[in-house]
Amino acid sequence: MPEGLKNASGKGFNRKPTVYVLDSTALIAGQTDFSRKEFVTTPSVILEVMHDESVKNVVEVAVESGQLEVSSPSEESIKEVEELAASTGDMARLSRTDLDVLALALEKSRAGLEVVVISDDYSVQNLARHMAIRTVGMIHPGIRKRITWITYCPVCRAEYGVSNLSVCAKCGAELKRRPAK
Ligand SMILES: [Zn+2]
Repeated sequence: MPEGLKNASGKGFNRKPTVYVLDSTALIAGQTDFSRKEFVTTPSVILEVMHDESVKNVVEVAVESGQLEVSSPSEESIKEVEELAASTGDMARLSRTDLDVLALALEKSRAGLEVVVISDDYSVQNLARHMAIRTVGMIHPGIRKRITWITYCPVCRAEYGVSNLSVCAKCGAELKRRPAK
């Protein structure tokens, strides 16, 4: 079959248009350049981020200007995602909002769009992959903070840096850990 016919659902172009499905972490990170791309999210995500005044302003402008589409997935799609989540063991780690985001991504994918889910949530990313939908995480210090643990003695104050020691070599007390600066 010629390429053009295979992709007849993609508005006649060989390359499918891309849509980015955003979850709450994506909006809170605030690194989204709405002027460049097509973005969609769900009403439940919007509700989750509206308590943050700076995020609220950015999101409102994006919605009003049509750069961020807000759309509810059908109950049928949500149920389908729930069943998939139950089969992968992700169900307990997914919120109702996560399910909404994934169901919306599924619908956009079936509508013939190239879908990318933007989320830092491991279970959201995992389930999207099960649906053959691409995911992109964000590296944002406010969300994914990498911690280095320093070992120290609470009794004699000896410090051991990054160490697997469990007992103080000087006084024999049980060591503790705290995040490095
Ligand atoms: Zn000690």
